[in-house]
Amino acid sequence: MSTVTLTINGQEVTVPAGTTVLDAALGAGFFIPTFCHDPAYPGYGGCRICVVEIKGARNLPASCVTAAAPGMVVETDSPAVMEARKTILELMLANHPVDCMTCEKSGDCRLQDYAFRYEVKSSNFGGAKKEYDFDDSNPYISRDMNKCILCGKCVRTCQDVEDRGVISFAYRGFKTKVSTAMDSSLAASACVSCSRCVSVCPVGALGYNSLTGKARVWELDKEQLTCTWCDAGCLFDLVRKDGKVIGVAAKAPGEGRPLCLKGRLGLELRYNDEPLKPMMKKDDEFVEVSWTEALGLDEIMEKLK
Ligand code: SF4
Ligand code: SF4
Ligand code: SF4
Repeated sequence: MSTVTLTINGQEVTVPAGTTVLDAALGAGFFIPTFCHDPAYPGYGGCRICVVEIKGARNLPASCVTAAAPGMVVETDSPAVMEARKTILELMLANHPVDCMTCEKSGDCRLQDYAFRYEVKSSNFGGAKKEYDFDDSNPYISRDMNKCILCGKCVRTCQDVEDRGVISFAYRGFKTKVSTAMDSSLAASACVSCSRCVSVCPVGALGYNSLTGKARVWELDKEQLTCTWCDAGCLFDLVRKDGKVIGVAAKAPGEGRPLCLKGRLGLELRYNDEPLKPMMKKDDEFVEVSWTEALGLDEIMEKLK
């Protein structure tokens, strides 16, 4: 196997040829922030927060899409890099509803973490703000596109769910957003509620309806289990608060197959300590119904009569 040796923050690092500067730096124990980078779908280079300084380079390249080269001299935290990261964070915050005090993602949010790390308290950039409707039409997943930082991780992971590709980027420029086909609600789309998109979202744009308002992230305990509804053996996390099961969370890509709707629904029914109410889709909206209606018994009774 051919290797390359480069210098990162004054330390010689040897990695297999083809390794990115990001992976070389992370492997050597250096920190580089990322929003859009997903090890399961590498090589995106969209958010630019992972920029580094490379001696002799004209600009600050994104380390996730720059291959390590022999003799390369890399600085991951130089003054120019710090300045660039602060500016990127300020640009994101300029168009972000910073309601961390009530946001479900607070405590597990990369935007919040990086703003803290790089001491970005507010934004010097003004201008228009996005004002999208909150979408909680899907019984499992909520979407707040006002908090979306357009990292594209949900889009890439959804494209990889068999026969899906439910969401993609739509519109242009300032109006760019992650959207379903025809910009419909998630309930009206072909979404199978696998929740993989939720598991990869680095901010509070995507969340679990079942967990909303129930706990802060640091109060949650997660236990990895295997779905037993079929022989695919998908992994999922059982989420508890104070020992009580309050929901089921999907694994990120690379951690396990996505849950199908049967698995998700079955697991929530099987493990949830609070009895769930059955929902049915009527006129493109999920409404609460009785168990006899959900199981089709009402219809059978009518026909028998
Ligand atoms: S997504 Fe993150 S930064 Fe935005 S409000 Fe929620 S916790 Fe705060
Ligand atoms: S839940 Fe699954 S199918 Fe639905 S949008 Fe997210 S990744 Fe796609
Ligand atoms: S919804 Fe989340 S994962 Fe999807 S693009 Fe926006 S920030 Fe990224």
